[in-house]
Amino acid sequence: SILHLEGEEKPKNPLDELVLLKKPSNGKQRIVILGTGWASLAFINNIDPSKYELIVISPRNFFLFTPMLASATVGSLEVRSIIEPIRRVLKRIAKGNCSYIEAECTEINQNENYVVISDSSPLEGPRPKDIKISYDKLVIAVGSVPHTMGTKGVKEHCLFLKEANDALRIRTKVMDCFERASFPNQPINEIKRLLHFTVVGGGPTGVESAGELYDFIHDDLVSTFPELVPHCQITLVQSADHLLNTYDAKIIEFTEKQFGRSNIQALYGSRVVEVNETTLKVMSKNDKKEYEIPFGMCIWATGVGPRTLTRKFCASVPDQKNQRAITTDAFLRVVGVPNPNVYAIGDCSTITQNKLLDKVADIFKEADVNNDNQLSIDELVQVVQKYTKTYPQLQPIASELPREFKKFDVNKDGFLQLEEFKQLLQNVDSKLTTLPATAQVANQMGAYLAKSLNVDVIKNEKNDEIHLPASPFNYKHLGSFAYIGSHTSVAEIPGVNFSGGGLGVWYAYRSIYWEKQFSLKNKVLLSFDWMKSIIFGRDISR
Ligand code: FAD
Ligand code: MG
Ligand code: MG
Ligand code: MG
Ligand code: MG
Repeated sequence: SILHLEGEEKPKNPLDELVLLKKPSNGKQRIVILGTGWASLAFINNIDPSKYELIVISPRNFFLFTPMLASATVGSLEVRSIIEPIRRVLKRIAKGNCSYIEAECTEINQNENYVVISDSSPLEGPRPKDIKISYDKLVIAVGSVPHTMGTKGVKEHCLFLKEANDALRIRTKVMDCFERASFPNQPINEIKRLLHFTVVGGGPTGVESAGELYDFIHDDLVSTFPELVPHCQITLVQSADHLLNTYDAKIIEFTEKQFGRSNIQALYGSRVVEVNETTLKVMSKNDKKEYEIPFGMCIWATGVGPRTLTRKFCASVPDQKNQRAITTDAFLRVVGVPNPNVYAIGDCSTITQNKLLDKVADIFKEADVNNDNQLSIDELVQVVQKYTKTYPQLQPIASELPREFKKFDVNKDGFLQLEEFKQLLQNVDSKLTTLPATAQVANQMGAYLAKSLNVDVIKNEKNDEIHLPASPFNYKHLGSFAYIGSHTSVAEIPGVNFSGGGLGVWYAYRSIYWEKQFSLKNKVLLSFDWMKSIIFGRDISR
């Protein structure tokens, strides 16, 4: 071109040189799914494989049943018993239309409908070139990574509990600490340091890790290292004022009492500000004083943050304002992309929350059909019906409108004036909460999205196929469980209004999780593991 002098290279886009994996010509739409975690598995288990070609891309060729991962840290069960190879899953559901590629997605091109994938194998030797894969629909379900909150030294000196290997690392480290503490002539202070097991974060992962460690030490290691166990200490550092602080008050009390009985030390209102090789620097929030805690092992479990791919994608779409998660509409479609064919589910996503209050004047005007500046019950019913699709927070009150109407008609004149209507909407908006990053949410999102792609096809003005199910995604909380050690679990089950803990809950917990395994193979393996540890105790080799 004129702008480029002879001899000068045109600037090249390196992506242009990659080979594109084209679609087969069987006329089927291709869905590319990123990830093999909870959200993806629920999607894959529910999508109709006769309607689509599925390509699953993930650096991890198995699904991991994370709720039982803490048990694997100490060998209450084997990691192999809670993983499921993705190729087995695909073979079970598919009729030749599904494939898996072990790779990491490094780039999403939402304008041209392809992703770039990169070999993620640990093998040495020549690596295959990156490749582009085109899609008709893209499901982003890449999950999250442990969050260090920028704390210095965490990556270098702490262990996380997120992936299968993490459980093995923790188990090895505990044994290393015990073996070194047994070395002849170790000074007592060093023994105490080595056997000080610390956990940072008082959410379910932190609490479960502490509980499992306690069991391991007091059920199994005590007979092998009787002289060392009295020097063991487990400490949980929590920045909030309670453990499991998102749970019901009864559960919090139960857990804290149980930890007290087990002599697991919990430091509340304490923030770890720096980690060194053998010490945590902790700041107490009340008096802002800093002190050091020597440790042998530290598990960091303070929550999760976005993956690099998630951050990169959000930064490439101007309408994605939240850089920590991919924002979707109520139907789980990614907002701000040119084509309506990109979805995000699970930990990497967050659903937009449109506040009714922002549009209160417009909605009121539209609702007030007879223009008398107030709403009758019929006018309210009409407008709520119309807006439940865009504002899913209206759903729960849709069936109780007469009661709501009465409640907010403060001056009891049989109509809602603007101010009264405002109060009503404000109350509805206040019920909006962002969904937690849990397997339960990811699982429901995956299933919902698959079902909506199986049916519900409509075309828009541009003749794009759009899948708009009758109702937006609606999370149903079925309850939470946590294992807190000493054959005791706590549970919160909203349906039957139960919250509490004990041995019975522990049995229920085990049987529910057993039931939830995706394959018979895993159910059998789990049963063997449990039996094995009852009869022989947990393995104490590293
Ligand atoms: P994940 O399950 O993490 O899956 C993400 C997938 O994406 C993985 O396969 C990963 O390899 C893949 N991936 C990553 N990067 C890329 C890339 N660039 N390209 C392609 N693929 C990629 N939740 C509960 O509800 N109840 C519990 O009791 C519970 N206990 C837990 C205990 C522990 C120890 C942990 C760590 C979590 C627990 N959770 C629990 C939370 C739950 O595991 C997560 O919320 C859930 O895994 C989220 O599912 P996801 O599909 O979004 O992500
Ligand atoms: Mg997933
Ligand atoms: Mg997972
Ligand atoms: Mg009116
Ligand atoms: Mg009134």
